[in-house]
This record gives sequence, structure tokens and C-alpha cells, in this order.
Amino acid sequence: MPERTETESRKLLRRLQASLAEAGAGQERLDRITHLIADSMGTEVCSIYLLRDSDTLELCATEGLAPEAVHVTRMRLGEGLVGRVARDARPINTPNAPAARGFRYMPETGEERYSSFLGVPIQRLGERLGVLVVQSKEARSYSEDELYALEVVAMVLAEMTELGAFVGEGEALSARHQSQVMIRGGVAQEGVTEGAVYLHEPRVVVTRPVADDPEAEQARLSDAIATLRQSVDQLLTRMDNDDSEERQVLEAYRMFANSRSWIKRMQEDIARGLSAEAAVEKEQSAARARLETVPDAYLRERLQDLDDLSNRLLRILTGQGGDTGAEMPEHPILVARNIGPGELLDYGRRLKGVVLEEGSVGSHAAIVARALAIPLIINAKRITTEALNGDPILVDGEQGIVHLRPEENVAKAFRDKIAMQAAAQERYASIRDKPAETLCGTRITLEMNAGLMADLPSLPSSGAEGVGLFRTELQFLTRNQVPRRGELAALYSRVMDAARGKRVVFRTLDIGSDKVLPYMKRPEEPNPALGWRAIRVGLDKPGVMRMQLQALIRAAQGRPLSVMFPFVAQLEEFTEARDHLLREMDREAALGHILPETLKIGAMLETPSLAFAPRQFFEMADFVSIGGNDLKQFFFAADRENEQVRRRYDTLNVSFLNFLEMIVTRCAETETDLSFCGEDAGRPLEALCFAAMGLRKLSMRPASIGPVKSLLRRVDLRELRAVIREAQATGAMSVRSAVANWLAHQNGH
Ligand code: PEP
Ligand code: MG
Repeated sequence: MPERTETESRKLLRRLQASLAEAGAGQERLDRITHLIADSMGTEVCSIYLLRDSDTLELCATEGLAPEAVHVTRMRLGEGLVGRVARDARPINTPNAPAARGFRYMPETGEERYSSFLGVPIQRLGERLGVLVVQSKEARSYSEDELYALEVVAMVLAEMTELGAFVGEGEALSARHQSQVMIRGGVAQEGVTEGAVYLHEPRVVVTRPVADDPEAEQARLSDAIATLRQSVDQLLTRMDNDDSEERQVLEAYRMFANSRSWIKRMQEDIARGLSAEAAVEKEQSAARARLETVPDAYLRERLQDLDDLSNRLLRILTGQGGDTGAEMPEHPILVARNIGPGELLDYGRRLKGVVLEEGSVGSHAAIVARALAIPLIINAKRITTEALNGDPILVDGEQGIVHLRPEENVAKAFRDKIAMQAAAQERYASIRDKPAETLCGTRITLEMNAGLMADLPSLPSSGAEGVGLFRTELQFLTRNQVPRRGELAALYSRVMDAARGKRVVFRTLDIGSDKVLPYMKRPEEPNPALGWRAIRVGLDKPGVMRMQLQALIRAAQGRPLSVMFPFVAQLEEFTEARDHLLREMDREAALGHILPETLKIGAMLETPSLAFAPRQFFEMADFVSIGGNDLKQFFFAADRENEQVRRRYDTLNVSFLNFLEMIVTRCAETETDLSFCGEDAGRPLEALCFAAMGLRKLSMRPASIGPVKSLLRRVDLRELRAVIREAQATGAMSVRSAVANWLAHQNGH
């Protein structure tokens, strides 16, 4: 890099900084900057376009173009050269702009006189903010150095935008992190809540983007990288598991930490006048921009690793630690890119809600959030860049919408919705001790799903008649080694104590697929949902399952015990698992332990194959519970975690209801106790239809019991059945609208 350009670029940055330090309103500052850049770079035009909303760019300041066009000329993302720079987050450098692909002439700007065009994105950590453009009459290509210098300036502009430097009179920009933002994500746990943002990880704020002494900055960067390498190496030596995913990630970290090209780019940024932290952030921004466009999953993961590593480096450089230092607000809504189950459990019920930028419906965090009954929104793009600690936030875990810093009318509508729900909850409390009996006199048993000791207090308060599904994974997922038998026995015993004689169905360890134990060696699987999971693991490596069965027998201490095996696909798997349990009973008896008063052994029906199992299966099973979450994904061959296909098939699809009815019939033939414990059981409309199909026992999250019971008590299942039959006869794909119409009519609306 020629020394001349280096100093030019530094000079420009220094002038820029001095100009920014001067007082003045936002617009005045922007005007000064365009003037200064045009002057320093010897071009006739310099313009700043900023995004007004996620899709519209506006000319906010210019030196050289018609002043009347400022705040008038607008273009959409992708429109014209400027729009393309913003959309693709890539510079465009052309000597003959009017001939370039995508050029669009904006007559009010008078730009037709200018031939050459260089535009670079203004972005911060992958967030598009605008475009910085220089143009000149002479048909020339801007040099690599000029491009580089402009990128560095754009980076500083992005930082200043973040710090609110352009806000003020003239409204060049509305202040960042001050206006309302609505983000759409996916629902991983339902619920509606209001609170204040609590960031899981601190945002590193670069307050000093420009530095005077490049040598000192280079030394700071080298020191920080050395510290980073050391910490990664230490983590690696501390790991004993050879091929865990964590190790792979750390290896990737180490590779990046030693990446010459990454370090070289940052050194060049510093040579241009950036501070060490600004250089790290500039490269991080570029990586994030690439992250958005790379389709390859492996590459995306690596770019993600680079992003994490950059964060670590930024923390080392700025001294801003892992702890936010922020006090937890009164009604905290946790905002994070992603979070592990252990960390989420640590926060526990203090949280009112969780919003994640990534995550998936079946992730461990989602399982924990479900167990804690905290609303969880996933895939909320940009939430970590938009949200600041303490920001007011509304979480609509029904629509999958987050309102950050909501305006009063939005907040009011939202509060009305919460109030209506609270009123409904009160109504539900009044029927808590009444049975879920329909107008035609059919009794439906409503039980609750649980996974933590902390769930048990909901048993009396929700009116649940028992625990239809106790997921035992959580105790395994949140530790770094297999829990001990004594520990598990004590916990299961406390769960039974808390249930006070009501039935608790313990499901044995259901791992694999989306639920991966960090300490268990697993093969790489091309298709984990169809892979080595649940009972398949239990039967192939029975050590852990047997230990868990012993713990359950001991926990019962002479009380009745119900054990359910997950993901049974054929009769033989059930008999084998059942034999294990019966053998453990014999062993425990031989050891002198008290046996359970009664033992019920059941299976989850989660694969269509089990519905077609030989009659012997239904005779042998004491009970069957339909795991609708999995059953639906296998019935329609639609991944429950894939947002693209997850909602494609309705639970009230005629084929699925027919299938459920067939299961009801098969169980009726052998008088096998049948329940439904997937999430759909907690949705009132679905629950009604299941009852109409003949299901008499439903297990759901505790908060759903009130709404489901209230609706069940208002309907006549014979009428509903007729409505369903009629809809089926018309060839409808789903009976949802027919049932909803009938219900609306019922309620006299
Ligand atoms: C199910 O599959 O419906 C179920 C209840 O199990 P899980 O959601 O834990 O897989
Ligand atoms: Mg399941």
C-alpha cells in the first residue's frame, strides 16, 4: 500500500473526526462530511444515502448534486446503482455509470453529467444503514486505494450513526435505537408478555473509531490477538472429548485466530487510520454481510465462528466484559443471539420472555422455555443489533411478533390483549375444579406436560388431573455429565410427592435428533430426525436407560408408577424396552427395595408404523400416548423444525384426523388407555376436534387447560362430529374453517 494513500486516508479520517466533534445539528454534520470527502478525494460529487426504512433509501446529503434533491430523491433497495450497493452490501466501481447494468437516472439530481461512480455500503455488523457515493465527470475507475479509503470512511460513518451523531434538527436521520421497530420471528413457546430488554451478552460499543497513532493501534491488535489465541488454546487443552462439536468449533476459532488474511486486513484498516477495535468491527461487518448471502451451510457456520471470534476480540480490546453490568429490569425479557439450556435455566422464572435472533423450535432453549412456560420467539432477525438494555419490548408469542420501543397506540392495543387474556384466565379459574365435560356428557381428562420440578405447582392451580407427560431430558441436557441415579431418584420422588397421588407419566430419556447431550458421543447422522434417537439409543446402549429405570422404581417407594417409552416404531422395540423394565423390577426386588404398588408401561405413538402394529402391541401396552409433534412430522414428511414446511400441513387436515381416528379405534378394540400429549392438544380448536375423533385424554402445557376446558364445556361433540363429517364429505383439505364457523355460530356471533 503506498505510503501516500495511507497518510491521505488518515488525514481524511482526522478531518472527519474533527468535523464530527464540532457542534451542529445532524443535517449540518452530514453536509460538512460530504463536502470534506469530495474535497479530500478530489471528486466533484459526494453523496450520502441513508435507509429510511428497511426498503427505502433517501438522499440525505450531497456535495455536487442538485441541493433540491436532498430528502426528495428516494429509491428502493436494489433499485439503481445505489440501491444495488445497499442490497448486495458490495461496492460498485465503474468509469461509465450510465452504461452500467441497473443504472437508473434520477433527473432531479442532475447526475447525468457525472460519468464515474464509486459507491460503498454503510453498514454496521451486517445491518444496512445506507450508501456513500463519490462521482466525477471524468470517466475514470477509482483505484483500489480510493475504494479502500471510502470503505474506511463509511465504517466511521456507520459508527457515528450508531452513536447518534446525525440526529437532530433537520431530521437527517431519526435517532437509532429510539424509534419503534417491529420484528417478525417464529413462535417456539406461546404467550404474550410485556417488559424491558435484558441483553444476554453486552453490545460492544466502539466509541473511538479513529486513531492517531497507527503503531500503537497495531501493537494493541497484536496483543489482543495473542490473548485470544491463548484463550482458545487453553479451552482446547481443557477439552477431553476428541470429536465433539464444541471441539470442532474451537478448532475453527483457532484457524481464524491464526488466519493471516484476516489479521492482514485488520492491520491495513489500522494503517488507514482506524482504531484497532474499529478495524475488528469493520471486518466483522464484512463477514456478517457475506453471512447473509452465502447459501452453503458449512460456510455460513464458519462465518458465524468468525463473528463469534470477532466479538471475543472486541471484548478484549475494549475491556467490555462478558457481563453486561446492567441491572436486570423488573420484567426482564431476555434478548440473545442464541442461548444454551443451562444458561436459560439459570435465569429461570425471573424472565418474562425470551427473544432469540436464531434458535429453532426444537432447540434445547425452546424445550427449557416450554418447561418454564416463558414465551419464546426465535429467528427474530436483527433483534440483538436493534435492542438496547432497558428498551421497552412487547412479545407476542401468538403471532410471533416483537415490538421494540413500541409507540403508545401499539402498546395500548397490546395491553388490551393481555388484559383480555387475564380476564379469561380468571374465568378459567372459576371452572378449575369442574370437570371437562361436554354438553353431551362426555368426560375428557385433561392432564399437564412437565419437565421440571418447578412445573409441579401448576398441577393444582391449573386444574390438571395429572401429569400426562413428564419429559426427563432436561436433567440430562443441562448437566455436563450423566446425572447420578441417586440424584434422579430424589428428583422423581419429589415430583411424585408434589403430584399428591395424581398420576405422573414419566417418559424415559428422549435424546437424539434435536436433543443432543453434550457429553454423549454420537455418530454424524445425515438425517438426525430419522436417526439414532430416543428408544433406539436406549435399546442399543441400555446402560443409561437401565439406570434411569432403577431411579424411577426407587423413587416410587411403593407408590404407583407409570413409565412411557418414547419413539417406539414397532412391537419388538416395545417388548424389549418393557423386558428391561421388568428385569430391573426383579433386580430391585432382589436388592430388597420396595417395588411400586402398580406398574403401568406405555409407549409413545410418534411414528405412523406403530399405529399399524400387530394387535399384540395394543394388548401388551398399558397405555399409548400420541406424540403429535413427532407423529405429524412423520405423517406429512414435514420437518417440525423447518420453518419453510412446518406450517404447511394443518393438524386439522382430514387425512391426519382420519389417522387419529384409526388409532382411537385400534386402542378401543383392546381397551388400551389412549391420550394425546403433543403441543396441539393445548390448542382449543384442535383439542375439540381430537375429542370429536374419540380421544378422551389430552395432556398439554398447564396454561392451556383453562381455555381447552372452557371450550369443551360449551360444545356437543355429536354436533361437532357431524360438522367434521360434513366437511370431510365436501373433500375439504382441512376441517378448520368449518369447525371455526360452527363455533362462531354456537357462541351467537
Ligand atoms: C411429541 O413428539 O409430540 C412429544 C410430546 O415429544 P417431544 O415434543 O418431546 O418430542
Ligand atoms: Mg416426540
